[in-house]
Amino acid sequence: MIGHNGSVLPPDNHVHTEWSWDAPAAASMVRSCEQALAAGVPSVAFTDHLDFTVWTDGDRIAEENIAPRPYSRMHLLEVTGYLAAVEECRQRYPDLRILSGAEIGEAHLWAASAHAVVAAAGFDRVLGSVHAIPFDGRLTAADDLFGHMPADEVMRRYFGEVVRLVEDSDVFQVLAHLDFPRRMWPRAAGPYDERSFEPEYRAILRALAASGRVLEVNTKSPLVSAGLLRWWREVGGRAVSFGSDAHQPWRVGDKFKLAADVVEAAGFRAGRDRFDFWRL
Ligand SMILES: [Zn+2]
Ligand SMILES: [Zn+2]
Repeated sequence: MIGHNGSVLPPDNHVHTEWSWDAPAAASMVRSCEQALAAGVPSVAFTDHLDFTVWTDGDRIAEENIAPRPYSRMHLLEVTGYLAAVEECRQRYPDLRILSGAEIGEAHLWAASAHAVVAAAGFDRVLGSVHAIPFDGRLTAADDLFGHMPADEVMRRYFGEVVRLVEDSDVFQVLAHLDFPRRMWPRAAGPYDERSFEPEYRAILRALAASGRVLEVNTKSPLVSAGLLRWWREVGGRAVSFGSDAHQPWRVGDKFKLAADVVEAAGFRAGRDRFDFWRL
């Protein structure tokens, strides 16, 4: 029997490797597997970035005439090579459960493109993310917005866009880092307080719960509170996923014991087996 008293860590459902366009030189799928085994997480999902820069018919970004993000480094995930690397790791590390996957940026704006890739790749784990929001006619990185408006206004615009992602896209199963810009919250704005955004958080959580999907606790972001996870329960949320959002192998499973304690304090427990999400 697997207990929930900290002896078994949850799966790490959010890890990046050298296949992500923003990965540093040190990123390595092989070394991430070794770290997962060393850290004691039972499984790992390689959710490399699937970001689009060129629209196709049926993508709302074109219909709304929004300019894509101008990151020159950004390039499309090479799905065939990526899947081959996952398969190699499965052969090499039979004691580790390895899930294929992707973290899709702004999937509601790129619906046709995203569905085409996901259908062809057959990913095990798909994360939905907002990293950039439409501002001034272009998709603008969340961190750039802090230079344009008050910090609380950045968060409110971001939260609004996350609601649109959840309501308009069904291509993903887990909502990643629901308050991503909090990572860049300016010191001058004072301490970040989840409670001052309670209505906005609840709107996201309600939409996510209504579609029966899963909330991620991201351990790269400042950790969400047990109070926020109680809001998740109150609006009907039933499952939690853990993600290190590692872009370097040493971060796989990082802060998972602490995160598991917070999730447990909100009433969630290890699921059907050690590879499952944590559930009520
Ligand atoms: Zn992300
Ligand atoms: Zn990520």
